[in-house]
Amino acid sequence: MPFTTEEQQRYARHFVLREIGPDGQEKLRSSKVLVIGAGALGGTALLYLAAAGVGTLGVAEFDRVELSNLQRQTLYTASDVGRDKLDAVVAAIRERNPYVTVVPHRGRVTPETLPALLEPYDFVLDCTDRFETKFLINDACVLGRKPYCHAGVLRFEGQVLTYLPGKGPCLRCLLGSVPTGAPTCAESGVLGAVTGVVGSLQALEAVKYLLGVGELLVGRVFRFDGLTMEVRVSPFPHRDPDCPVCGEHPTVRSLTASGVREQYDPAGCGTEEPAREMDFRTFLRTRTESDLLLDAREDGLRKFGGIPGSLPYPADDGGLPTDRRIFVYCQTGEKSASLVRRLASRGLDAYNLTGGFRAYLRLDDSTS
Ligand SMILES: [Zn+2]
Repeated sequence: MPFTTEEQQRYARHFVLREIGPDGQEKLRSSKVLVIGAGALGGTALLYLAAAGVGTLGVAEFDRVELSNLQRQTLYTASDVGRDKLDAVVAAIRERNPYVTVVPHRGRVTPETLPALLEPYDFVLDCTDRFETKFLINDACVLGRKPYCHAGVLRFEGQVLTYLPGKGPCLRCLLGSVPTGAPTCAESGVLGAVTGVVGSLQALEAVKYLLGVGELLVGRVFRFDGLTMEVRVSPFPHRDPDCPVCGEHPTVRSLTASGVREQYDPAGCGTEEPAREMDFRTFLRTRTESDLLLDAREDGLRKFGGIPGSLPYPADDGGLPTDRRIFVYCQTGEKSASLVRRLASRGLDAYNLTGGFRAYLRLDDSTS
């Protein structure tokens, strides 16, 4: 189908690029990219992919827009707070480029749903913020032979790696197994502009792949430190022969196999007992003098306030009492859940406070 006059005007700067031109623009128009996670990375990538005229954009997301998102998630506006992110994404993209079709995929990606979800897409962007999900996406893309771009951000730093089936190492070749208790942006913070840089790089990788131009970050890891402005592109050319998913004797052959599935979902099913949970209302109602309340957030967050009566989670938790109820909270409830599981495995009477400090703040809003 020829481009309309309006499309020709819209994409004029692409048309004059030798690497794109009308043929390249047609490639973009007939391409499908799946963006998993519509937060800071995903939102940035989506804006550029939509503006570039990538014809179909799948978006997988389960969350709502929170006020704390606006510091970096520039796709959303203040009037989106409380709104379903997918609804806001569909509206934002329609507003920017009506020639792009957005396909919303509601809910968390799981080992059961992800393989079919990836199927129709030409390229995938991992814009999530949890290692367990990143490994799930990596494994699904390796097993499904789907090219994808991984990225991670924390504090002032970002990292990008692109995987092409059969052509370079995957995320597991780089990192091995899923790191446990790794810091998240909610815990450690992240500068908004850093996510903008990294999300833009992911969009750039996708566009280059779709056009078949330039050199992708395949077998090379891009690392960027926004504080020092040091950029390193480290060669990492070879697959790890012992990689559990793309190595010579892979142990990850199905995402749902026993021993595999649990790696993606440490809070849920599988061999690990889920953390015992208590919501803040119940905790505040039933709290007694002897209960111990521990704040597992980092110092940077704690100094801006915490729950009255809480103590910092000790660096060495081996000496915690066995005869008192122990309640642990972090910023989101994820890190504290893994700490509570550890305490419970040692026989301590430990509870995770569901939803973390964020849920506590919302409680304040709804009661005052
Ligand atoms: Zn690998």
